[in-house]
Amino acid sequence: MENQSNFIKTIMENDLESKKHDEIITRFPPEPNGFLHIGHARAVIINFELAKHFGGYTNLRYDDTNPEKEDNVYVNAILDDIRWLGYEPKAIYFASDYFEEMYQRAVILIKKGLAYVDHSTAEEIASMRGNVTTPGIESPYRNRSVEENLKLFEDMRNGKFREGECVLRAKIDMKSPNMNMRDPVLYRISYAEHHNTKDEWCIYPMYDFAHPLEDAIEGITHSLCSLEFEDHRPLYDWVVQETEMPLVPRQIEFGRLSIENTVMSKRYLRELVETKTVTGWDDPRMPTLMGLKRRGYTADAIRNFILSAGLSKVNSTISNDMLEAALRDDLANKAKRAMAVIDPLKVTITNYPEGKIEYLEAPYHGEVDLGVRNIPFSRNIYIERDDFVVEKPNKKYKRLSLGEEVRLFNAYFIKANDVVYDKDGNIIEVLATYDEATKSGSGFNERKPNGTIHFVSADESVPATFNFFGPMMLDIESENILDRFNKDSWTKKHGFVEKSLANVKPLEKFQFLRQGYFSVDTTSTASDLQFNEIVPLKSSYK
Ligand code: ATP
Ligand code: MG
Repeated sequence: MENQSNFIKTIMENDLESKKHDEIITRFPPEPNGFLHIGHARAVIINFELAKHFGGYTNLRYDDTNPEKEDNVYVNAILDDIRWLGYEPKAIYFASDYFEEMYQRAVILIKKGLAYVDHSTAEEIASMRGNVTTPGIESPYRNRSVEENLKLFEDMRNGKFREGECVLRAKIDMKSPNMNMRDPVLYRISYAEHHNTKDEWCIYPMYDFAHPLEDAIEGITHSLCSLEFEDHRPLYDWVVQETEMPLVPRQIEFGRLSIENTVMSKRYLRELVETKTVTGWDDPRMPTLMGLKRRGYTADAIRNFILSAGLSKVNSTISNDMLEAALRDDLANKAKRAMAVIDPLKVTITNYPEGKIEYLEAPYHGEVDLGVRNIPFSRNIYIERDDFVVEKPNKKYKRLSLGEEVRLFNAYFIKANDVVYDKDGNIIEVLATYDEATKSGSGFNERKPNGTIHFVSADESVPATFNFFGPMMLDIESENILDRFNKDSWTKKHGFVEKSLANVKPLEKFQFLRQGYFSVDTTSTASDLQFNEIVPLKSSYK
């Protein structure tokens, strides 16, 4: 956002230049009815980054006007996620803090003859609304007197009516070409307990009435929201003006972000969780920020990805490759490089003394100083099963085969001499010899080994599970979200990691040589090490 220009930044620049505002104030307004996903991250990042760019600030405001679905669990998790992304709100507010002021603003509308209590049922209201080609019909309650409306609205607040018995509506224009202006509902009755105000209120403001007031009360200068609210903007402006709010915010819409082969809507994500199709909201396949974090995605990579995707006025679906590239860029110089054998094949170094273990010092990263560790070397080692074939198939094959020599990373050259099979003809062991003179790769240039492969000592290594993730959703059309779920999206492999990783902590990140970037899972323990593949070293995109 620093160097990039975008349409919202331009609006803000102009507003500062013309002295319409002397500070840029934004807000991120989640409803606390679910956990944040990577789509929300776009809204978080653009709000915070834009305000920061202009030296302004951003509030976190929970839009808690629907008591039925909201919960404090979400309130806390949302703040954790925002902080994880690297942002600290200037202030934290709740829409419910403003319920009294909102009520008084609704009274102003009633006094101006701009709102009325309607006793029509929800179905009647819907049927009188008309549609894009047909104008709506005015409600029989539309011309109640101001006094009657004031009394009825107070009765609504005081619990004199049942849920659904009546609503407060704005009196605008039932013939407006914009459906949102056809006497929208401003208040409804609900006796559900509110996570914050408990049973203090039994009437709740609707989004279109509440949101502009919340923004105006906080002095938000630019209220950024996703594209589906574009048609609501005339109502937003109407509410701010007619309720006589002294500070006037401006709503600006931007495109929603989607990512290929995943789903983002709360309803679908909840279904996956509730049917136990995934292990929870933080399942590493989920697009929730807690899922991505558990998988090993970094906040910096997510931020760089969102910023480099740019900000558009249209909704966009972005391929996963871009996010993966951002991850590789971010992890390249941060992740320690270590060795893991994911699909082990035993190699016995027949000329290495039994029982001897030596420790070869090696840095955790070739170019950046991330410390050093000791790598055990011994008579029994593991290499990757697909790093060995009996007969070298062609010149390009740069791994181990009978009669050929390879270098082991950080250790010696070994030469394969013989193969052991089980009774079904599967290779279960390779017999090799090492050359003591080639310690830590010396003689590499003269000898030209047939490639360099990774290994771990079988005598001193730690067993580990490696988790691999594919796209959560399949590219098929179906109404049923469960049909689209990719059942093969999580595979596990069991192998070994080098001994220096015995005490890793959840969320520590590594590059396993020649394989990819991995993160220690949140469920990992010393006796059950679990590594999640964040992203392979190279893009599989052809
Ligand atoms: P969902 O239904 O996908 O969970 P929501 O819009 O109901 O999302 P809110 O809590 O209302 O969730 O969203 C908070 C803010 O995040 C809003 O300003 C909304 O516009 C924005 N937002 C939500 N999803 C996306 C998305 N995919 N891309 C960009 N912004 C988004
Ligand atoms: Mg919403």
